[in-house]
Amino acid sequence: MATRADAASAVARPQDSGPEMGAASRQQDPAKARQRPLPEPKPLTEHGPARVIAMCNQKGGVGKTTSTINLGAALTEYGRRVLLIDLDPQGALSVGLGIPAQNMDRTIYNALMERKTTLADVRVPTDIPGLDLVPSNIDLSAAEVQLVSEVAREQTLLRVLADVRNDYDYILIDCQPSLGLLTVNALTAAQGVIIPLECEFFSLRGVALLVDTIDKVKERLNPSLEISGILATMYDTRTVHCREVFSRVVEAFDDVVFQTVIQRTVRFPETTVAGQPITTWAPTSSGASAYRDLAKEVLAL
Ligand code: ADP
Ligand code: MG
Repeated sequence: MATRADAASAVARPQDSGPEMGAASRQQDPAKARQRPLPEPKPLTEHGPARVIAMCNQKGGVGKTTSTINLGAALTEYGRRVLLIDLDPQGALSVGLGIPAQNMDRTIYNALMERKTTLADVRVPTDIPGLDLVPSNIDLSAAEVQLVSEVAREQTLLRVLADVRNDYDYILIDCQPSLGLLTVNALTAAQGVIIPLECEFFSLRGVALLVDTIDKVKERLNPSLEISGILATMYDTRTVHCREVFSRVVEAFDDVVFQTVIQRTVRFPETTVAGQPITTWAPTSSGASAYRDLAKEVLAL
């Protein structure tokens, strides 16, 4: 795999920037150039134990929550059972699925902090068959502080996941925008990390730091942790800057970058208001088909 040094040098190179139309916009789209046919997922005859994937980037607003919801929903279309875990006190994952977690008494917080409460006690079904959710709300913000004094504090989520792991094929964890203890818990519980990355210049620096954290967790807490892939989000073919940043990311991380890119479109903010994944809100949209492609890539890993 490409190293952090590669990523850093990609960052250091000069850039031109800013959205521009014209001659440059007629250049080839670097994302399109990488696209190959994807294998059709095989049907399953039995379920579990789940592969756990953390959706992680310490930068906010890069598409973590959107990708968690829509990758999860797309995986269920291929017959997979999926549990989504909201590990962000903002609770946007719960809201995005139309679940009013602000008023709920039992959430991920209780499963993490109370020995008698299990994940099975706090999970709820969503409107999508095969898709369950462990909700979160502002209560979770206390966990970061309270966990500090726990024994094996980094393994808390890993321990509570054991209870439901056999019920699902995939467990996706929507991380908060920080590299604090909750995120370290997600990385310790996961086998894979998906890094949603907004195609803009400053994103690259953040990724170097994130990769560093992932390496540390792998070394000290979770040897089986791997980066499943970097997912370009809010991709806009029309801007030179976006295409350039994407090319740099591919130069630095090569095969680790998913061939699927998620285009920037107003349909995603709409889905949040609707409380539905794009795969049901606008099933024939290009956004829905992009997340289906991502699901195919994830299933082929
Ligand atoms: P994060 O969880 O990383 O903070 P979100 O998934 O909540 O990011 O996305 C941040 C905002 O951007 C939300 O309003 C969401 O609807 C919007 N968004 C996400 N993906 C896209 C996209 N591909 N195109 C346009 N807007 C998007
Ligand atoms: Mg989020």
